Amino acid sequence: SSSPLFLPIQSGRVEEIKTQYHNSTKPISDFHSFDPELIQRLVYDSLVWSSLHGLVAGDKNVQRSGTVPGVGMVHAPFALLPMSFPERQWRQACELAPIFNELVDRVSLDANFLQESLSRTKKADAFTSRLLDIHSKMLESGKKEEIRLGLHRSDYMLDEQTKLLLQIELNTISSSFPGLSCLVSELHRSILNQYKEHLGLDSRRIPGNTAVSQFAEALTKAWKEYNNPRLDLIDVPYLFYDNEFTKLCNTHDVTTIRKTLAEIDAQGVLLPDGTLLIGNQVIAVIYFRAGYAPIDYPSESEWRARELMEQSSAVKCPSISYHLTGTKKVQQELAKPNVLERFLENKEDIAKLRKCFAGLWSLDDSNTVKDAIERPEFYVMKPQREGGGNNIYGDDVRKTLLRLQVEGSEEDAAYILMQRIFPTIVPTFLMRDGICHKDHAISELGIYSAYLRNKENVIMNEQCGYLMRTKVSSSNEGGVAAGFAVLDSVYLT
Ligand code: ADP
Ligand code: MG
Ligand code: MG
Repeated sequence: SSSPLFLPIQSGRVEEIKTQYHNSTKPISDFHSFDPELIQRLVYDSLVWSSLHGLVAGDKNVQRSGTVPGVGMVHAPFALLPMSFPERQWRQACELAPIFNELVDRVSLDANFLQESLSRTKKADAFTSRLLDIHSKMLESGKKEEIRLGLHRSDYMLDEQTKLLLQIELNTISSSFPGLSCLVSELHRSILNQYKEHLGLDSRRIPGNTAVSQFAEALTKAWKEYNNPRLDLIDVPYLFYDNEFTKLCNTHDVTTIRKTLAEIDAQGVLLPDGTLLIGNQVIAVIYFRAGYAPIDYPSESEWRARELMEQSSAVKCPSISYHLTGTKKVQQELAKPNVLERFLENKEDIAKLRKCFAGLWSLDDSNTVKDAIERPEFYVMKPQREGGGNNIYGDDVRKTLLRLQVEGSEEDAAYILMQRIFPTIVPTFLMRDGICHKDHAISELGIYSAYLRNKENVIMNEQCGYLMRTKVSSSNEGGVAAGFAVLDSVYLT
């Protein structure tokens, strides 16, 4: 929270940025010209709104926070006003959602493709290797997932020079903030309405965001497909409370339980027919809010739990195959020529997907590695990790690539190289810990989507709202939970 990247608002600073951005034509970035007194009112009102509407998260500074619900809450980090985004690229991102849903499902069924794509990575990355082991075991036992549920989030940045919408990554496990993102859209609409005369912005240009209710709907439909009288979701405590959970409990006659992986290992029982029991409850749907990072598996107990769940007939969101389909290595393999054609027939769909692919390379591409050593600022180096804070940028790309060359080990297979995307930098007000900071920022647009099918029957294939995240442009990484970014919404231009 005391990050030096954030500059507290002081009238002098506001003036400075004002002159710097005087010629900006984007309507929403005109707020440099706002009266500091108006900003203080916006800050106050938005903080009150956040507290009253549950735009809150656990406060890391309070010891009992996270273990005792309702204790130690702080507003979630958010942008004071929504971020401009061109309508055409917005529509493009929304249109891609059902196509990516279908792609993930098709890829997940091609076990050989997953195993082959990740075969070198397996040797270099112990975590991916463990996931692949579970995948192999399921294959050997002939395990089939008939009901498949995906709650994904595809993230994009808008490249300033080419105006191209380029995909950063596709998250297939534990896609975060479907609940809080809806609240930020509502907050911004409310502020725009309340200050219509001062701001001159139209709240209707903020697209409706129903991510949370659509995710809840998908979970409920999965439960119905499983055909059991209860909806039981397995979950672990998380710093940000999950609104999609509360939504389920409020609007559907369902039971939800939250368990850690270790608790599932201790309490879970698998019946011969594949039914998973926790206590005396049959588990119909498992919704992972953790399990995507090595830190989530501190002992063998957690791995046993993951395998137990995978063996069960419960609907898993995600299955091990869906999880592996979301790895960075698979993203890079899918971007190779003629690979999408293996999974999709529709040529227009293939063209749409390909158009949003940025440059992606394996480290056995010696020309690209050579170029990345010479011009590291144009690349991002990514390991097979999730949750932010793991990528390598700038001069560290060069150093790491040189080190890997000298060592000549298999470790290079743990990474992929990606073209670095440079979005437009705009002055923004960022709210964190009750303090408003003004800084130059860039944004990343995430589009949520839900996919549910039972054998040949596609029950749901939809775009489900969005997540805008804004971060100071001098920061490489983008996670909200990791402390780099704030939650934001879209203002269509
Ligand atoms: P994770 O699964 O950990 O979220 P990401 O691929 O999303 O991994 O990378 C984390 C962050 O790094 C992104 O949110 C984004 O801010 C930044 N980033 C990732 N790829 C690129 C890229 N190609 N160009 C610019 N920034 C990137
Ligand atoms: Mg991710
Ligand atoms: Mg990401």
